[in-house]
Amino acid sequence: MKKNLKMNIDLALFDKEQISLSELVRIYPIANGIREVFEYINIANEKNNKHIVNENITEEVCVKTSDGKQKTWSGPQIIFNKGETSAFTPEALEVWKKISETHQKKLLKNVWCSNCADSTTIVDYTGNVQQGPLILNGFCEKCGHNVARVIENK
Ligand SMILES: [Zn+2]
Repeated sequence: MKKNLKMNIDLALFDKEQISLSELVRIYPIANGIREVFEYINIANEKNNKHIVNENITEEVCVKTSDGKQKTWSGPQIIFNKGETSAFTPEALEVWKKISETHQKKLLKNVWCSNCADSTTIVDYTGNVQQGPLILNGFCEKCGHNVARVIENK
């Protein structure tokens, strides 16, 4: 999984109490096909179960496949609630949101992996703040080894 879907949810819920899946994909368009919709549903189904499934409302979600085709997925309305994922602590989100998107991408692509002995892209990361710096913990995109990135909080 290349995109950090959990963080999309966290970021979307930064200043809101809840967001439906269809609203979410309007902010973060789906570009990797139906599989990405199911990944969101899997996240919703994880342990703390804060989401709401509204069987009475059918929602349509625009899905772009990796070869650029446009499709529509329709299913019951899924609403994510604040605290749905704990990928980023509120303090970590605060710091992360202040960094420009271009710089965020640079930071994510430039993480040292001790297993590859090379720099790599961090995936499936979580963020927390410990006595100053923001720390991202995740995995190497190439080999799956644990990697971390410390981001000094100026
Ligand atoms: Zn690696």
